[in-house]
Amino acid sequence: MVHTPVIKLNSGHNMPLVGFGLWKVDNAICADTIYNAIKAGYRLFDGACDYGNERECGEGVARAIKEGIVKREDLFITSKLWQTFHEEHRIEPIVRRQLADWQIDYFDLFLVHFPVALEYVDPEVRYPPGWFYDGVGEVRWSKATNQETWHGMEALVRKGLARSIGISNFQSQTIYDLLKYATIRPAVLQIELHPYMQQSGIVRLAKAEGIAVTAYSSFGPSSFIELGLEVAKNMKSLLQHDLIAEIAKKHGKTTAQVLLRWATQREIAVIPKTSRQAIMTQNLECVNFDLDEDDMRRIASLNQNIKFNSPVNYFNNDRLL
Ligand code: NAD
Repeated sequence: MVHTPVIKLNSGHNMPLVGFGLWKVDNAICADTIYNAIKAGYRLFDGACDYGNERECGEGVARAIKEGIVKREDLFITSKLWQTFHEEHRIEPIVRRQLADWQIDYFDLFLVHFPVALEYVDPEVRYPPGWFYDGVGEVRWSKATNQETWHGMEALVRKGLARSIGISNFQSQTIYDLLKYATIRPAVLQIELHPYMQQSGIVRLAKAEGIAVTAYSSFGPSSFIELGLEVAKNMKSLLQHDLIAEIAKKHGKTTAQVLLRWATQREIAVIPKTSRQAIMTQNLECVNFDLDEDDMRRIASLNQNIKFNSPVNYFNNDRLL
């Protein structure tokens, strides 16, 4: 089995450097996928209320634990707070529901999914609630501030419902602001990060502040082409990019492994997903080689500051949902 290195978080807990993402994992195959990923050696799973599959994730995890493949404490389970639950008094009840879906009693890491608060939608009305108040296209903002939300997140640690807490899709100014009032600092910042969106400034900020970084959508446009996002369709695939292919050939690796190693070599965690067993192993094995300085310099030249996963894309015609 592949040995996955870990990052020591500022909370004192260890987080695996390579994990498994759960966005767009179909409900019908989700329990089997997570069960197979555990068998392949994955220990970190990156879920969210918004992915709409936490109950199935819980079934897969429960099966693996019941069969003695892993213990709960071997796993690192991440989930996220959806925007409609940003008011402080909404946080604990929804986290308890999410934990019940996962059939666990604490999250290893719980993230604020986006620093954007939306009006509450009762889970009895629609769950997961998504971006739109009416489920179709109406955006309704909530007045909850990031400070209020973070206060509620800190309570999760104090109550033992989350071991570490963190943020996702925050930008520099929002992070500096949060650090002024945080009594528990964010352990992890999860952001879109790939050669077309290298985010070097915010990565430096996070490292300087002792916040670990997790990259999502490591293959760039691929994830968003699947969703029909125009800006992604117009970009050259990174998985088939000539430069990445040349570097992959030099090291006897796949382009996907090069894209993942480009992050993990700098202690940036990655969370790719696939339902294919051979690809699961291939992605997990991305830590078994090193890119050289020249490779890193050439990949750096691909930066275009193009962010695919932006609320602006959700609220305009180029919608993802
Ligand atoms: P991904 O990395 O899972 O992959 C995109 C596409 O690449 C998928 O079609 C996948 O099947 C394919 N793929 C995977 N491995 C491959 C390989 N070795 N070779 C060729 N193709 C391969 O992209 P993603 O879902 O955008 O991001 C990964 C995870 O990050 C998500 O599952 C989710 O957990 C997290 N995420 C978080 C946010 C956030 O707002 N915090 C946003 C997006 C994604």
